[in-house]
Formats: sequence, structure tokens, C-alpha cells
Amino acid sequence: RGKRAFIAGVADDNGYGWAIAKALAAAGAEILVGTWVPALNIFETSLRRGKFDDSRRLPNGSLMEIAKVYPLDAVFDSLEDVPDDIKSNKRYSGSSNWTVTEVAESIKNDFGSIDILVHSLANGPEVTKPLLETSRKGYLAALSASSYSFISLLQHFLPIINPGGATISLTYIASERIIPGYGGGMSSAKAALESDTRVLAFEAGRKKQIRVNAISAGPLGSRAAKAIGFIEKMIEYSYANAPLQKELSADEVGAAAAFLVSPLSSAITGSVVYVDNGLNTMGLAC
Ligand code: NAD
Repeated sequence: RGKRAFIAGVADDNGYGWAIAKALAAAGAEILVGTWVPALNIFETSLRRGKFDDSRRLPNGSLMEIAKVYPLDAVFDSLEDVPDDIKSNKRYSGSSNWTVTEVAESIKNDFGSIDILVHSLANGPEVTKPLLETSRKGYLAALSASSYSFISLLQHFLPIINPGGATISLTYIASERIIPGYGGGMSSAKAALESDTRVLAFEAGRKKQIRVNAISAGPLGSRAAKAIGFIEKMIEYSYANAPLQKELSADEVGAAAAFLVSPLSSAITGSVVYVDNGLNTMGLAC
């Protein structure tokens, strides 16, 4: 049978999550997505109205099918963790079962198991603030949404990931090199995510032969990236300075992700793989 993938962090057709979903669909996988609760309505409406039909087209001409869209807020592990103001928030009260444990439970009930888990989400409320001006609350929120969210997903999905399955998350070079402007603790969150990739690769590998890798992606003008404020500058910088002088397309990250969750990469785990036109290798911009 074909593989089944759950991609957490798809809310439009611009980001890496969407491109990864397409690459996996093109390779024959069944696609389930997790969409941030506040973005769910507009995403589902746009899907239904055909707004994404052009970008749903796969290389064989067919349209990517999403078997099911699950509302998800990856900063909450279970209902007990949800504060009252969120519970009563209109955008949240219209949906249910969107904590991590509940989504895992729903997928188990609906489909039984998955083979591939993709984490393509991040959030740092103070991302535009320098680290030196970041509050404790903002820092911890960045880590909760962008790093612990992966641990939580893997922890709660592990029982329903088939042995031999694979997972992937998206990281950014700001974890290891100074990228002024990538603030609010987001650089710290990516450093944690990359370290966790190694430790979780060991633990999930020993426990269930599940692989854990991350892609360190180059700049893309996604919705999340536009919120940071200087993404156009990053794209220009990469174009000018990377070994490969071309704009990075989300599909190139999608293709690398498809490789990293396929049997073609069966001996790769605990790795952070750069998909950035080689920009990370430069020592002197020229
Ligand atoms: P995106 O906006 O398409 O994806 C981010 C998604 O995270 C959104 O759909 C958002 O709704 C979701 N999200 C935020 N908080 C959430 C929560 N609490 N629970 C569930 N979902 C939540 O943007 P993207 O740039 O494609 O981001 C995907 C991943 O790629 C992120 O981890 C990001 O850090 C990483 N990345 C992006 C770039 C870039 O330049 N765009 C570069 C390297 C890495």
C-alpha cells in the first residue's frame, strides 16, 4: 500500500509545508494536513472554492488530494493545557480536538496509522525584537511553538507511526550563524530543534526504527517569513552570494523532504541537511 503522511503546518499554498505535501503526493503518498486553528477557516474555504487548484496540480496533471485537514495548535498537548481565554476565543471554539494528543487520537481513529510525520511550523511572537530585548515570555513562546512542538508531535504520534517511518522538520541557519533580525528567541528555537533532531533520532530509532531529520532551508517568501520583515533582503542576499545563483523554490525543499522520508535515505537519521543553494558553505560573501 502507499504511504500516509501527516504534515503539520499548512495553512496556504505558499509555504514549505504545502510544497512538501505536493512532493509527497506526487510520489504516491496519501496526504493529511494539520492547520493552525486560527487559520483553519480561511484555508478550508479557499481549498473548497478552488483558490489553490492551480497550485494543487501535480507533475502527472492530476490535482493533489488532501484526505483530511485537522485543526491543530501544537503549543497545547492536551485539553487540560488550554487556558480559558483560548477556549472561549471564537476562532478556537468553532473547532474541537486540536491539541496534539487529540489530533493523534483522531488520526488513529480515522486512518489507524501513518508512515511520515512532517513538522513545518514555527512561531515567535517577538521575532522582530533583538534577542537582547526579548522577554522571558516571548522566548519561551518561541521555543514552545517552534521546538517543543516537534517533541510533542513525535511523542504523541510515535504509537501510530509504522516501524520504518520517517519524520522531518524545517530549520534555519540562524541556529548556528548570526542572522541579525531573526530575533525573539527564534534563533535559539532552531538551535534546540537541531539538537533535538539528533537526540530524538537516537530515541525513536532505537525504539521503533523511525528516522528523524531536519532540513535547513534557504529563504522563502512564505507568510511566516514575511512576518519577520526582511525576507526580500534575505532572498536577494542569497541570490547574490550563494554558489548557485538562483531563487530557491519551495518545490526544491519539497523534493529533498520527499527523499528524506523515503527508503532512498534509509541510512540517514539525526542529520540536518542544507537545502539552500549552498549559501551555508560561504565564508566570505562575494
Ligand atoms: P508558513 O507560514 O507556510 O508555515 C508556518 C505554519 O506554522 C503556518 O501555517 C502557521 O499557521 C503554522 N503555525 C504557527 N503556529 C502554530 C501552532 N501553534 N500550531 C500549529 N501550527 C502553527 O511558513 P514557512 O516559512 O514555510 O514555515 C515552515 C517552516 O519552515 C518553519 O519551521 C520555518 O521556520 C521553516 N523555515 C522557513 C524559512 C523561510 O525562509 N521561509 C527558512 C528556513 C526554515
